[in-house]
Amino acid sequence: MKSQLDTEIAVLGCGPAGIATALGLAKMGYKVCVIANVRSHNVTEGISERVYQALSHLGLTHTLKEISSPIPRSVSWNGVHSAANTERLIRRLSFDTALLKDLADAKIPFYNETIINVEERETSCHILCKSGKNFRIDFVVEARGRAAPLTKKSHIRGVDSLSICQNWKTSNTQLMSPEAIAISIESGWLWFANNGKGNIFTQVSVSAKSKTGSAKEKLSTFINKLVLSRPELGHITPYIEPEGKVLARSSTPLFNKYPTKNRYLCVGDAAMSGDPLSGSGIFLSLSAALIAPIVINTILNKPQSKVLAEEFYFDRLHHLFYRFCRVGRDFYKMESRWQEHPFWQARSAWPDQQVAHQEKDRIIGIAKRPVVNGDFIEEKEVVITSEQPLGIWKINNKNATDVLSVQLKELNFIK
Ligand SMILES: Cc1cc2nc3c(=O)[nH]c(=O)nc-3n(C[C@H](O)[C@H](O)[C@H](O)COP(=O)(O)OP(=O)(O)OC[C@H]3O[C@@H](n4cnc5c(N)ncnc54)[C@H](O)[C@@H]3O)c2cc1C
Repeated sequence: MKSQLDTEIAVLGCGPAGIATALGLAKMGYKVCVIANVRSHNVTEGISERVYQALSHLGLTHTLKEISSPIPRSVSWNGVHSAANTERLIRRLSFDTALLKDLADAKIPFYNETIINVEERETSCHILCKSGKNFRIDFVVEARGRAAPLTKKSHIRGVDSLSICQNWKTSNTQLMSPEAIAISIESGWLWFANNGKGNIFTQVSVSAKSKTGSAKEKLSTFINKLVLSRPELGHITPYIEPEGKVLARSSTPLFNKYPTKNRYLCVGDAAMSGDPLSGSGIFLSLSAALIAPIVINTILNKPQSKVLAEEFYFDRLHHLFYRFCRVGRDFYKMESRWQEHPFWQARSAWPDQQVAHQEKDRIIGIAKRPVVNGDFIEEKEVVITSEQPLGIWKINNKNATDVLSVQLKELNFIK
């Protein structure tokens, strides 16, 4: 078996998931490289404080500089306009460029290549790039986002959705303070984000099957007309004009049923990609990327625990994906005006009717489950609750099973 210092791992893709995984693997002593082409379209996305903190914890100093301060977020849903919390805005081109600067600071080699084929062989993986360059690698991390290859049978697919994006410019920035608004419309929903620095971004998510979605040449007219007619944006629309071309992004929720193979593990959107309504795509990506190095380390160094590590990874991803899908479903359900419209009907029913969060957390029992112990996945006794079906191993550094038995003794349940 090769030592960590000799094991070569290639991360394919340089979005947040790929970079976070590469940094984690390098910290563990693996020889890592990143092979990817750099994103070419510039869109705005919103991230939460949790994501900001995770990026800060990873020490991504260049990337943090590309994230706005928290800006007010409001919602116009079911005919009611309400102020929500705050979110931070990122422009993906500069955000992704900064991720590469952080990668360079960590001295991780980066190859700017377009990958056209990845083949897993018995003792190595072969990566073929458009330029003709070849890589023979011990292990591959698939982080090419939604562009990662998927077959029909290999994933769970949510309701087909398309998001139409348009940047806008303004010469009147001093009139506008930064803000973001989510607005429900009959055929979908609109997200408006003004970074207060001259960029305004709009994104309309509709059914991929809708006429709007299929007639690509009409997308620009559709989004421009819609944005300019919204009363919620009346304080801004007289001062803006479209900038650049309209962009259509697929936003169908996808879950990869096989996130691991022998020498291959998927992170980020390549493993699971949610509905942009939840605004948690980067959160989900980082959630997978932060545990992926430990799963890979277990697979490579403790072959007897390979299945356990794979089960741990799959269960964590599956649990997170469904939790966020159900939260999204409940938000769609809150719009009651157009429940007969196919867009709202389909999304208010998917993925199922299970609750997203239990009203009260209940202890279900104790079971053996895989957990993260240092740099490995190991099986331990955990407390299973209705909110934490995968189990809680530690509470304030103490075994959750010990904490539970102390509490039960105090309540005279056990002597
Ligand atoms: C319409 C829409 C709106 C969204 N809004 C938000 C939001 O507001 N907030 C939020 O948190 N998330 C949002 N998301 C989700 C977010 O964009 C993703 O979850 C996140 O970028 C996933 O990170 P990743 O690293 O897995 O993949 P990506 O960021 O997609 O990175 C993939 C990388 O792989 C590279 N690549 C792809 N194919 C190849 C190839 N063949 N060869 C070489 N390199 C390749 C790409 O260039 C890119 O660098 C949105 C998604 C969509 C579709």
